Amino acid sequence: MTEAAATAAANAVREDRLWARHMDMAAIGATGDGGVNRQSLTPTEAEAWALLARWAAARGYAVAADAVGNLFVRREGTDPQARPVLTGSHVDTQPTGGRFDGIYGVLAGFEVLEALDDAGIRTRRPIEVVSWTNEEGNRFQPGALGSAVFAGVFPLADMLAVRDADGVSVADAIADVRRRTPVPSRGTPGFPVDGYVEAHIEQGPRLEAAGRTIGVVTGVQGHRRYAVEVLGEEAHSAATPRRARKDALIAACAMVTDLAAALADEADTIRLTIGRFRVEPDAPGVVPARVWFTVNLNHPDDTVLVDCVRRLEAIVEARKGPCTASVTYMTGRAPVAFAPRVMDRIRGHASALGLASMDMLSHAGHDAMHIARVCPTGMIFVPCLKGISHNPAESATPADLAAGARVLAATLVEMADAD
Ligand SMILES: [Zn+2]
Repeated sequence: MTEAAATAAANAVREDRLWARHMDMAAIGATGDGGVNRQSLTPTEAEAWALLARWAAARGYAVAADAVGNLFVRREGTDPQARPVLTGSHVDTQPTGGRFDGIYGVLAGFEVLEALDDAGIRTRRPIEVVSWTNEEGNRFQPGALGSAVFAGVFPLADMLAVRDADGVSVADAIADVRRRTPVPSRGTPGFPVDGYVEAHIEQGPRLEAAGRTIGVVTGVQGHRRYAVEVLGEEAHSAATPRRARKDALIAACAMVTDLAAALADEADTIRLTIGRFRVEPDAPGVVPARVWFTVNLNHPDDTVLVDCVRRLEAIVEARKGPCTASVTYMTGRAPVAFAPRVMDRIRGHASALGLASMDMLSHAGHDAMHIARVCPTGMIFVPCLKGISHNPAESATPADLAAGARVLAATLVEMADAD
């Protein structure tokens, strides 16, 4: 029965409707060059809420927002007491974002609800589509703020007090959005959830290169960021002999060169980035007295990350020369592994629908990495043109978007009916 319903739900997904909804949403915050700028908890996001709420009202779905601004659209199940199955992503974008990052997961989820209606399918558990607050981490830091609070990673009060560059707090921004687009309250974030599946564009070129349509995401790679500070001594550039110098820049450059060589693994799985590099006093006639740089490390295996950090510390010590140097932890997150059972379902439905799939790790962070702490979680990736994302040129085909939504539909039906 469930299998037939899963197939019927997948077949009821309409490619034209899903595409049209993307284009309607892309008009909200359109930048004029094909891109979208839809910052979290702004009047632009309130407009996106309003559009989603209109579509939901036309279908009779309940819409509500929790205290951190996560928006939920609920299609009832036959057992209203049952814990819901959740799907979704985010509607915010980077300032020069595209038409698919985030919004695809929300619209694919909404398409599933409509497909279930059209196919006359009633699931036992309710299915809810969620738009998580501030995933991109552009206006407010940290990113994935709404899903983090939902999963209990950060306390609600701390996150409501976070301010943007203009001093506006998350709490005030939420109040403003709710004034513009009033929706009922869902109360304190976090309620029992039976499972979560997030559809997203890949944001990388692997599916396209492999000629596959569905990425079965196995997890999210871990991340650690450190700051390295090298302290030397200011000195006259013309008058100070080499042996009397404490040149922080020469030492720092040796560290970076050694680190790049040491972490150049054969399999090319370690991601090392020196994204910020500051020299003081930054004057052509003065020997640099202080260099500060960030070291960003990504890898799916935490033991590898720990080893990278050990090597970083050893290299900094070995290459500091006459200077002093320190390594300080800034931020990070442990790698996340998704639920094998959810991955099996995604893989199985892709195969049943005749769609070529492949297992793949997510290099970027997503809301699903937090929700994985509270329920069985998985993600579905679909290809995006040349892997381009966070860019107005971000592109995906209507057929691929629909294919991902079909796999999502079948997976959600199975999860919503499972014991
Ligand atoms: Zn995203």
